[in-house]
Amino acid sequence: MDARKNTEKSHHAFFVVSPIVVDWPFFCRLLRTHADANPELFTFQHQWMATILDSLLWRSDICERRLYAGANAGFMREQVCKYMCPYARFQSAMFDPDTLIITYDEKRGDPRGSRGKGTSSAASGLGDCVDCTVCVQVCPTGIDIREGLQYECIACGACIDACNTIMDRMEYPRNLIQYTTQHAIEGKKTRLLRGRTYVYGALLFLIFVGGMVALLNRKTADLDVIRDRNALYQEDDNEEIGNVYLLRVLNKEMQPRRFSLTIEGLPAARIDGGLPHWQIAGGEVYTTAVRVEIPAGSVHGGHAFRFILSDDSTGKRLVSEKSRFIAPR
Ligand code: SF4
Ligand code: SF4
Repeated sequence: MDARKNTEKSHHAFFVVSPIVVDWPFFCRLLRTHADANPELFTFQHQWMATILDSLLWRSDICERRLYAGANAGFMREQVCKYMCPYARFQSAMFDPDTLIITYDEKRGDPRGSRGKGTSSAASGLGDCVDCTVCVQVCPTGIDIREGLQYECIACGACIDACNTIMDRMEYPRNLIQYTTQHAIEGKKTRLLRGRTYVYGALLFLIFVGGMVALLNRKTADLDVIRDRNALYQEDDNEEIGNVYLLRVLNKEMQPRRFSLTIEGLPAARIDGGLPHWQIAGGEVYTTAVRVEIPAGSVHGGHAFRFILSDDSTGKRLVSEKSRFIAPR
């Protein structure tokens, strides 16, 4: 009993500690970002400690990941398989007698009953199942596969190995529980190619093609535009009308890239300070404000236009984001 408790304790310790190991590269990256942003903090040892503690305690993403992984792997375990994984729910809808499943050979195993080691089934008048319940004890979801396939079965195969051990000890043939089809157990021919195989294959192929198309066309950058709502527009001494926008540029690639911003659909518009070029590190977000100006009178009222974010090295348009310019009527 003590040994079992110790094993459980070591399992829980492992499931709490292992996510920390998994999170380690993320944590290092986070620390490096802190160091880059606040070089003055990394002058003294106690400030190092303060930054590390700050990161550990307050970055909820690390804590969340650790808690989720620890709770799922350490405490919930088979509950995740039984109630959260959709595989179990698909089983009844997708399976037919030609599907490979974990199956107990009822014809061979029943009637069940205990007997002495080395006693043949014929001599005892029983089937090959010695009713030891080892297959139930090792099942992570606690089901008895001898009652037939149940939705809780996650096809882990633990009952097959356990039963084969018993069969070896009893000197009976293996595979009383095996990974096979219902038709094979009944002595009928298993059909590999049938209607649902083609339908599932076609669906999988479509999902694969859709995934590849999405992957190849995924945006490698993102642009958010928020119009400054404090003032509809500003008029300056040069007879120009200006609108201010807050921009968030996200570099979705892992390497640093240089971006440029242009405007489309707004006559004679220019960006204050000239065409912006931004160097943004991989996976980072850059936030900045830009002021768009037009000569007074060139536009009246509200006018829709687009910000175009391009890759500076290739000139390729990456994102086009709609916005609105407001001028006097
Ligand atoms: S492990 Fe095999 S022999 Fe033992 S109860 Fe299960 S099916 Fe029967
Ligand atoms: S394969 Fe066997 S041990 Fe695994 S979940 Fe299914 S019945 Fe339980």
